[in-house]
Amino acid sequence: MTTDAADAFAAAYGDAPDGVWAAPGRINVIGEHTDYNEGFVLPAALPHTTRVAARRRADGRIRLISAQGDGKVTELALDGLAPGAVPGWAAYPAGVFWALAQAGHPVGGADLAFTSDVPTGAGLSSSAALECATAIALDELYGLGLDAPTRALLAQRAENDFVGVPCGALDQMASSCCVAGHAFFLDTRTLTGRQVPLDLPAVGLSLLVIDTRVKHDLGDGAYAALRAGCERAAELLGVRALRDIGVAELAAAEEKLPAELRPLLRHVVTEDQRVLDTVRLLDAGEPRALGPVLTAGHASLRDDYRVSCPETDLAVSAANAAGALGARMMGGGFGGSVLALVDTGRLAAVEQAVRAAFAAAGFGAPLVFPAVPSPGAHRIA
Ligand code: ADP
Ligand code: MG
Repeated sequence: MTTDAADAFAAAYGDAPDGVWAAPGRINVIGEHTDYNEGFVLPAALPHTTRVAARRRADGRIRLISAQGDGKVTELALDGLAPGAVPGWAAYPAGVFWALAQAGHPVGGADLAFTSDVPTGAGLSSSAALECATAIALDELYGLGLDAPTRALLAQRAENDFVGVPCGALDQMASSCCVAGHAFFLDTRTLTGRQVPLDLPAVGLSLLVIDTRVKHDLGDGAYAALRAGCERAAELLGVRALRDIGVAELAAAEEKLPAELRPLLRHVVTEDQRVLDTVRLLDAGEPRALGPVLTAGHASLRDDYRVSCPETDLAVSAANAAGALGARMMGGGFGGSVLALVDTGRLAAVEQAVRAAFAAAGFGAPLVFPAVPSPGAHRIA
């Protein structure tokens, strides 16, 4: 086996793995902060993956190592796993063992070695890639026969209840379920989805990721406050979640809310509509028309939801000024990555313009790469 994860496995454990699996990071074309409002999202998988080389163990013990973690082997006992008991990066894969066992699946111990090229903390879901790689490896090592959505929900359970991060299902569903050349239109209420063709090269377009490399501290507390604000708004409006308010009812619903909750409602309701509009445009074969939808989404996140920051705002404005068809920040906010829709012939010019604008503003250099819609989690060796 000639994957880097198999090499890392051999270096750590002195032997060959039973197999190697990969799970991707993701972009989200549109649909931000809608997942915990039971709304719509439209992710696509990146070519960037987390790989795991894995081998079963018969003694119920777990060994974990990651080149992107602390570089040391973490040793655990499967029957000793409990939420909060595993510190650091190892909690993500350990949480997947725990979630499988909690759900009654006959999973045993294993040795795992991870390698990854998914940027971490950039809003590209490296945590879900790590979890979903673990989930598919254990599923196949132990012949559990799970389907991709089931693995995704177990991975989400690991992150929510074992690691302690209250994320929605977007990241794990994307990493598990995406198909190359497509975006995955997911209803986060019913957890059902369908693949939507996103073959941009065929029409001379590209999606460009601009990872600002910044993550402002505000993020964690702000996420909880926004989530609580949305739940409060839903309660005041007498609906289960903000997903239940359509654009036609928006003005009347705003009247019923205190001033501070109105912008949250506006963002969530208009963002759900932007996902539906985007899917309609892609189904109709009009991907160029996505540009203004992306830029409108950014304005909503900046002005109503207020989760943007100077770096993401600058990346969006510089990309658009250099001829991008549209751009928006992705992920939770306060840093992370921007997604731009660009004529392939203008990719270099847009990248150059963003780099120049960052340098002129005194910001650190961004990481810029095209996002080609790629496969979800799968076995590679
Ligand atoms: P994102 O998922 O957007 O990249 P998160 O904060 O959710 O950001 O997850 C990042 C964390 O996930 C890292 O700080 C690290 O603990 C863990 N992580 C992700 N990928 C790896 C990896 N390949 N090896 C070790 N830890 C990883
Ligand atoms: Mg994450």
